[in-house]
Amino acid sequence: MQQSVFDLMQQMGHEQLVFCHDPYSGLNAIIAIHNTTLGPALGGTRLWNYNSHEEGVIDALRLSRGMTYKAAISDLNLGGGKAVIIGDANKIKSEGLWRRYGKFVDSLNGKYITAEDVNTSARDMEYISLETEHVTGVPEYMGGSGDPSPFTAYGVFVGMKASAKKVWGNDSLAGKKVLVQGVGHVGQYLVGHLIEAGAKVMISDINETRIKETTDKFKVEVINNSDIFAKEFDVYAPCALGATVNTESISKMKCPIIAGAANNQLAEERVHGPMLIEKGILYAPDFLINAGGLINVSAELDGYNHERVMGNVEKIYNRTLEIFNLSEKENVHTQAAAMMLAEKRLADIANVKSRL
Ligand code: NAD
Repeated sequence: MQQSVFDLMQQMGHEQLVFCHDPYSGLNAIIAIHNTTLGPALGGTRLWNYNSHEEGVIDALRLSRGMTYKAAISDLNLGGGKAVIIGDANKIKSEGLWRRYGKFVDSLNGKYITAEDVNTSARDMEYISLETEHVTGVPEYMGGSGDPSPFTAYGVFVGMKASAKKVWGNDSLAGKKVLVQGVGHVGQYLVGHLIEAGAKVMISDINETRIKETTDKFKVEVINNSDIFAKEFDVYAPCALGATVNTESISKMKCPIIAGAANNQLAEERVHGPMLIEKGILYAPDFLINAGGLINVSAELDGYNHERVMGNVEKIYNRTLEIFNLSEKENVHTQAAAMMLAEKRLADIANVKSRL
């Protein structure tokens, strides 16, 4: 890591970073709390085989910051946090690891509330819930809201429709070619919505099982993962990992819209946001359109109501159009426009809280 961790925390505005280690279960986790102005920091726990702990720290810092913006722009009274566990998901998962991790979450006394993320499931949340009440996304049979992915996928779908409306003047995706990169939890639900809407869906994934699951259910074209941007399509939906929108990929992209579920899609906001405008590609900000899962799990905290959750996820459509308009009005890229709106709410509430 070239900069010290405190420099990074200062640059990105973090409040707290917690390192958790348990030699018995092999747990190495990092909990990042970005901002608690709006409420407790809620964000999932990602299990990933990072090449180094520095990579894990940077991911936790970037992801938790995104959660602050996601909650703020979605009108949720939650702060931004995220955790990463470093390790191979096929090897380290155990009841002991999850319960030990639950104890670490509990030690923060509700300042951080965890949930699912890449490689973590409702079942894992169930183990965590044995040690702390500060967990969401537990299975439905335990009174939780279960897997947040269908809600995330639906939010991405409505965000994509809003993008279509902006670009083509009509929000129909019928006949449009959409590439879904990553057909995991969210990607597969998104494919379902797209097929139902009459889109022509192309998929790519590095995991053959996920591809088979998808082709067994839907009529889609599978494309080779190595050079996806050589293909022609109308919408690129990144639903795997972050930073896939970078200098190299943008130079090859021919699609007019990017709208997907992955967090931190732009490798560098300040560089790649403007680059997309220059290239005439409309980017639906990730933390805005992938907020459906957060909206869903957050509803567990104040009495879950499915209809209210769906109504709040639907609001992503109008908010996406609002952001596109703000981006034009302020002459900034769409991610910057979304950040402006989120920062305005954070500043307003900080002001409210600072006064008697
Ligand atoms: P997942 O792990 O179930 O699915 C990710 C899929 O991407 C897997 O099938 C994996 O094999 C594939 N993949 C990984 N690297 C790839 C590559 N280079 N090319 C093609 N495919 C690749 O995760 P998920 O829950 O579906 O989440 C997908 C993305 O959306 C993640 O970035 C996650 O942070 C984000 N997200 C998820 C939720 C949610 O509710 N699950 C909410 C908000 C954001």
